[in-house]
Amino acid sequence: MTPYSELGKEELLKLKEELTLQYEDAKGKGLKLDMSRGKPAPAQLDMTMPMMDIFTSHADMKDEQGVDTRNYGCLEGIYGARRLLGEMLGVDPEHVIVFGTASLNVMYDSISRSYTHGVMGSTPWCKLDKVKFLCPAPGYDRHFGITEHFGIEMITIPMTAEGPDMDLVEEYVKDPAVKGIWCVPMYTNPLGITYSENVCKRMADLNPAAEDFRIYWDNAYCVHHLYDEEEKQDHLPEMLSMCKVNGKENMILEFASTSKISFAGAGISCIAASKDNLDWVKKSMTVQIISHDKINQLRHVRFFKDLNGIKEHMKKHAAIMRPKFELVLDVLEKELGGLGIGTWTKPLGGYFISFDTMEGCAKAVYQKCKDAGVTLTTVGATYPYKKDPHDTNIRIAPSFPSMEELKQCAELFALCVKLASVEKLLENK
Ligand code: PMP
Repeated sequence: MTPYSELGKEELLKLKEELTLQYEDAKGKGLKLDMSRGKPAPAQLDMTMPMMDIFTSHADMKDEQGVDTRNYGCLEGIYGARRLLGEMLGVDPEHVIVFGTASLNVMYDSISRSYTHGVMGSTPWCKLDKVKFLCPAPGYDRHFGITEHFGIEMITIPMTAEGPDMDLVEEYVKDPAVKGIWCVPMYTNPLGITYSENVCKRMADLNPAAEDFRIYWDNAYCVHHLYDEEEKQDHLPEMLSMCKVNGKENMILEFASTSKISFAGAGISCIAASKDNLDWVKKSMTVQIISHDKINQLRHVRFFKDLNGIKEHMKKHAAIMRPKFELVLDVLEKELGGLGIGTWTKPLGGYFISFDTMEGCAKAVYQKCKDAGVTLTTVGATYPYKKDPHDTNIRIAPSFPSMEELKQCAELFALCVKLASVEKLLENK
């Protein structure tokens, strides 16, 4: 394979002609496929359907502590659900509050509460001239959406292979206006990498100037391995206890849900945090809601039983996800390997592959794919303010399409990368 950068103008023009023909041909196929979001495939959702058989009209609806899940009460969630999600995150049930069906609005509420009422007695953010957040990027678009919604200034922190650039993070937290950092520490969205032990240690030992600074630790993919073998799985230290060892247990709010374990947007969600933080959260919770859906919580507890149950279930997910990731990675390697026009991650878990084009090509690739019937995640969405400074990053979400569709998507994607790269190189000839 000759890298494209070594081709002369004539060769590039000829290549462009060939690729354009292939592209027009692909366009003619009338594809209509969506790779934009990390949605579980129907076959994955089917695996949780037996959960629906748990309750008949005669079912015992009391939990192990005798709580009637059909009635009001138990604001913190039933004990079994706190234990189940606690086990998943490696923390005691006492440190967990179980919420409703999804974690994003728990995160939204955390920001909202801090904005209107302040964090544990400190000045509400709405009364401050400036509030800033650190946003490791590429990152999760909906995190950035929340902070943007509240007018919080977002500071992009570059990601390294080990996690956020901690030199920068340590520097920025000296500013008292910096109130938080968004983190997806395991199989991160969209890079698929897991923060290293060293990054976690430095994170747990931050010395922020702001007393109300919090690490927003969104552990959405903590059990989402693609491979069953231990040595092919990433490992993440448990952060609540790591912060506690440093006397900083109030510095972290951890979030998770079963959206990509049971049903997306219809699972159970939680916060794991110190007692002080949970007391603060409960203060506004008691105003917001009388109790969450405990029937759904009980359904999850009876279905999964314990962490082992979740792990076994996730192996079935992996059996569906793994071939999809491998298929995309194979196509990328076969079509683009050695051409010097793109790099991509090879995650061991999670929902995404992150692709970087040559500088200034991502938007063009997105548009070409779109014109040929394949929708990708909007380019730029993985950065604060939807602005990718170098126009390179594209998030690939292989989970939803069937294998057949995915092959078509991946091949078209590779073709569009080639064409956009040739066009870019020709601009400078
Ligand atoms: N966090 C991350 C990092 C995610 O990727 C997603 C789903 N795309 C969520 C949170 C949303 O989770 P939930 O459905 O629990 O709101």
